[in-house]
Amino acid sequence: MSSNFNTATSAGAASTGTTSTGLIDKFGRRVDYIRLSVTDRCDFRCVYCMTEEMTFLPRDQVLSLEEIYQVAQAFTELGVNKIRLTGGEPLVRSNVMSLINRLGKLDGLKELLLTTNGAQLEKYAEPLRAAGVNRINISLDSLDAERFRRISRVGKLENVLAGIEAARQQNFERIRLNAVIMKGYNDDEVLPLTEFALERDVDIAFIEEMPLGSASDHDRESTVCNNDWVREVISSRYELLPSTTTTAGPSRYFKIPGRESRIGFISPVSHNFCSDCNRVRVTVEGRLLLCLGNEHSMDLRAILREQKGDMEALKQAIVKAMDLKPERHHFYEKDYIQPIRLMNMTGG
Ligand code: SAM
Ligand code: SF4
Repeated sequence: MSSNFNTATSAGAASTGTTSTGLIDKFGRRVDYIRLSVTDRCDFRCVYCMTEEMTFLPRDQVLSLEEIYQVAQAFTELGVNKIRLTGGEPLVRSNVMSLINRLGKLDGLKELLLTTNGAQLEKYAEPLRAAGVNRINISLDSLDAERFRRISRVGKLENVLAGIEAARQQNFERIRLNAVIMKGYNDDEVLPLTEFALERDVDIAFIEEMPLGSASDHDRESTVCNNDWVREVISSRYELLPSTTTTAGPSRYFKIPGRESRIGFISPVSHNFCSDCNRVRVTVEGRLLLCLGNEHSMDLRAILREQKGDMEALKQAIVKAMDLKPERHHFYEKDYIQPIRLMNMTGG
């Protein structure tokens, strides 16, 4: 199969590829974390992520569960020790637990994580934990049922709240709520959402809306909320102390004295933390995306299907792709070319 994907060429490559310490890109960044999308489909249609009318990928373009497993195996053999499953909504993929059960037993994997909209967690929280999922992120943008529906277009708040409770009954190492704050939608809910997390001893992260694909509902530049402002709102009520937790990438965490929860700010728009980016993404059509805000990619599906079962060929392609990882993204900057793909196709 020939690749239709944009594949950028490497420029000014220093020594990249694998070393005894793992996958290294040409800027010296070590990639030890992948986000694997298991579906582009979802039972919600969040306004910042999808358009109202969505066309999803035909089945033959989507990696099988076995192919997704092979990708995960290749990356772990190359030193990746952390995998986050995402989508789309990972829990709508049929038979997804058979994949997650296998991933939980992968040699070399230290952390298996999942990001979900929470709508089906009541059913899945227990088997996910049993499969070895260490931590779970649950999206929650509003505590008001009407507004929740407006933002998700179809979601029911009560299902998500029940899902959060079900997750709390399991012994996950951490649970984090994710909230995208948008002007005119939910910018008056920063404190209520923070308090909801504090009362339940779960973490919460505020995510700046990223310009991926055109959202049919609104003009993103007019709704995006700078996390410096979100932080000020929380600081007006609570003392925020920088947390010692360091995570490579765009999240910064704070603690409130005497509280369990961590308050995170994921600020890819207002703050550029690309210099310590440690991650890449694999879309459900097998496109290895080297950067969230750029189109540089490698077609792994072609290798999976044309050189079936050849793990070495797959690993070589991944090593080669490290040369394509761009230095940084340029969200909302002058001349920024916005990727056409929406977040559900990217694997958030
Ligand atoms: N369906 C799952 C969920 O909603 O958590 C997983 C996939 S979703 C694409 C992953 C995360 O990306 C969610 O927390 C969502 O809020 C976030 N997200 C989606 N579109 C975004 C955008 N344009 N900017 C910032 N975050 C976005
Ligand atoms: Fe679905 Fe998650 Fe995108 Fe919302 S953010 S539409 S829940 S994939």
